[in-house]
Amino acid sequence: MRFADRMSRLGTETAFEVLAAARALEAQGRDIVHLEIGEPDFDTPANIVDAAVKALRAGHTHYTPASGIPELRQAIAAEVAATRGIEVTPAQVVVVPGGKPIMYFVITALIQEGDEVIYPNPGFPIYESMIKFAGGTPVPMPLLQENQFRLDTRQLKSLVTDRTRLVILNSPANPTGGVLAPEDLQAVADAVRDHDAIVLSDEIYGRIIYEGEFASIASLPGMAERTVILDGFSKTYAMTGWRLGYGVMPVPLAEQITRLNINSNSCTSAHTQWAGVEALTGPQDEVGKMVAAFRERRDVIVGGLNDIPGIRCLKPSGAFYVFPDISATGLTSKQMETYLLSDAGVATLAGTSFGAYGEGHIRLSYANSVANIEKALERMRKAIAVLG
Ligand code: PLP
Repeated sequence: MRFADRMSRLGTETAFEVLAAARALEAQGRDIVHLEIGEPDFDTPANIVDAAVKALRAGHTHYTPASGIPELRQAIAAEVAATRGIEVTPAQVVVVPGGKPIMYFVITALIQEGDEVIYPNPGFPIYESMIKFAGGTPVPMPLLQENQFRLDTRQLKSLVTDRTRLVILNSPANPTGGVLAPEDLQAVADAVRDHDAIVLSDEIYGRIIYEGEFASIASLPGMAERTVILDGFSKTYAMTGWRLGYGVMPVPLAEQITRLNINSNSCTSAHTQWAGVEALTGPQDEVGKMVAAFRERRDVIVGGLNDIPGIRCLKPSGAFYVFPDISATGLTSKQMETYLLSDAGVATLAGTSFGAYGEGHIRLSYANSVANIEKALERMRKAIAVLG
């Protein structure tokens, strides 16, 4: 079959491939600890599930407005205004099936051949994939362990050119768990302000933070009008399978993104949107409990990894990932991913799944029970000792 040329530029998310390989081993009877997939292991809070069931029973089984039901757009506008300290109107909100479509749509709407996009590397793999797919030029912004996985603000300044159209930020970050400091955000704002550039700020882990306060670049003076906030329900409310996310952006861009949604999804499923209204306006205690559990697991996994000779792991301030340095073991990232899965029964992801600057690292998701994390650490310790 002959495919369009653009398909050769489309990347993927290898987490789904490693998950499939791990499941194949399980089908042969192997016991695998899953630290590869980036989703909360908790069930969606009951009040949110009940709201969706109620919506279905009440007949919310039809198409909705393409940009979302007014009740949800209103709730999102209020939430984003309160948490980022900016004015937001419902007209700026587009509801879509997950956070990912916002990346897809915003990059499609803004980027064409010759446009440069600065993006975090290591970073969520879909950024680079979509930039290339749209015909843009990906310009990696290295996030290195020696800099606590924060961006090097001097280097950033040198990356911005007259062709820079978009700068992508992600804080707290996947895969490093790093959090950008207010001075980092200020440096990005200063760098883009003199150019005709937009910021796509992926804030999907904004509520999963252990040290310091969450800060959005949209809160800085003059930045709300040139920022797209990407956020959603997958991580905060353990709703990955529901597919519910949103973007908050200037109204003219929101109209374009809505048109892309009409051309692809028509709208987001109706009862899922009603679940979203309950998630934002209902009790928030379950979110606090999940974040407390993630914090405990983070401490277990960071301590355990640093006890393994050959591994060095920073303590991340947010999200639910660690990105340890495994270079002292002598294996590449990919070799370590394969070795741990086949020999130790621990599914992880090579750092290079998140870009070239991830070499020397693996990513582990600690959205798993303390018992499973301890089992994985013990298996890794034994497997890595054999290498020495
Ligand atoms: N942004 C980042 C940084 C992520 O890690 C993920 C999911 O892993 C997403 C966005 C996508 O979230 P969703 O499942 O809501 O599409």
